[in-house]
Amino acid sequence: MASAIEMAGEVRAHRGGAVDRITAALAAARVTNRLCGAYIELLEEDAVEQARRVDRIVRDPAAPDLPLAGVPVGIKDNICLDRGRTTCGSRMLENYRSAFSATVARRLMEAGAVVIGKTNLDEFAMGSSTEHSAFGPTRNPWDPSRVPGGSSGGSAAAVAAGDIPVALGSDTGGSIRQPASLCGVVGVKPTYGRVSRYGLVAYASSLDQVGPMAGCVADAALVLDVISGEDGLDSTSASRPGESFTADLERPVDGLVIGVPREGRSLSNHPAVASALERAVEVYRSLGATIVEVGLPMTDHGIAAYYVVACAEASSNLARFDGVRYGRRAEVDPGNSIVDLYRRSRSEGFGAEVKRRILLGTHVLSSGYYDAYYLTALRARRRIKEDFDRALGGSGCHVLLMPAAPGPAFVIGEKTDPLALYMEDVYTVGVNLAGLPAVTIPAGFTQGGTERGTARLPVGVQLIGPAWSEARLLRVARMLERELNLPTVAPAMASPTP
Ligand code: GLN
Repeated sequence: MASAIEMAGEVRAHRGGAVDRITAALAAARVTNRLCGAYIELLEEDAVEQARRVDRIVRDPAAPDLPLAGVPVGIKDNICLDRGRTTCGSRMLENYRSAFSATVARRLMEAGAVVIGKTNLDEFAMGSSTEHSAFGPTRNPWDPSRVPGGSSGGSAAAVAAGDIPVALGSDTGGSIRQPASLCGVVGVKPTYGRVSRYGLVAYASSLDQVGPMAGCVADAALVLDVISGEDGLDSTSASRPGESFTADLERPVDGLVIGVPREGRSLSNHPAVASALERAVEVYRSLGATIVEVGLPMTDHGIAAYYVVACAEASSNLARFDGVRYGRRAEVDPGNSIVDLYRRSRSEGFGAEVKRRILLGTHVLSSGYYDAYYLTALRARRRIKEDFDRALGGSGCHVLLMPAAPGPAFVIGEKTDPLALYMEDVYTVGVNLAGLPAVTIPAGFTQGGTERGTARLPVGVQLIGPAWSEARLLRVARMLERELNLPTVAPAMASPTP
């Protein structure tokens, strides 16, 4: 499929209009939705209307160039849009219509992108499989009996299916990078503060970042160019001089030093993950990079620290969904109290995983447990950050290379124990706790394909850099992508598992 860069170039050069492009993307998305449930809502009419507007602009010689002219995009459904619904994959917001668009969505549309749909996610972005959406699971286009990862599984699946070259996801503990790995696409988690969170429905505010998911590194870089930068509507967005992530992308990094954390070579990794990682190491070595072994000794404590911090923040952020200020209101008898109304609305509106996290978060913040859990988790968070500082700064490494997830896509329904699912995030949560940027890129496949019914599944690797090093990180990612040259669109979804 054409990249976003190619598509926008054609629309700008009047070789094919945006309306045709968008009509074709919508047709593809309808099929993907039937097979994979990648979208919660397709914005059929509105998308064609947006495309008409783009076609008018590109015909106007006085209008500025649109970097994403006529490019179809998907937006994770926890990102507000002033059209369609913003559900967060929850019954609670089943009928919620946002009155405004998130800054990231607005910037994409101003750059000429056309939002064709809102993509599926685990309820309120809590999960690693996109099985926990109130509107049904998303399936992996490489093998529809398997999960796409999560929580941005709909965005990952839509890109992997080839409907759209780019989509937005959000990453609080790995929700861009893990599904990118399981669906064989590129995913970027920016430095905390690089991208505005205005209009992103908050899960854990000190960890959340929006970022691109794309079929290639260059498209991800282009989208990051468009969405990043200070926003007066989000005081945590950093004021930094404008920077281009595309300008220098093709230039390899000279004297590259790559740190490979010992902890990323865990024996519990799936063999395909282990071999993709070693292959990536060899590719970089053959390109002249120096490879050094480093340690991230706090890795094993990341999950515990993350789930305490994330649940604590979530319990506070989700308090607004009470059926009065926000969210679906339960029907209660007139004689009932306001507390009954809150209780019923929240019981009916939230799914089991969200309730589990609100309970956990409330518990760790409650008096008597605050020191034992919450403060301990904050201390661990600091130590995790120091681990990264040491591995990156101290050892002189430009980037760290490790898996994005311990295994490839697993079968839907296979991981019933919440803890087994939390372990999917073992390689991703540290990056959020430390506020760092990271990129997942496809790096190989499982064997599969030999026996009937076993599809080849993609696996990715993750590159992690110091804060604000996205430009270099993407160049390093591009070096590997150029050498491996792997397909990022799944082969036709011929016989979906019912
Ligand atoms: N899987 C992690 C969680 O469930 C990360 C989710 C995310 O990044 N939104 O919290």
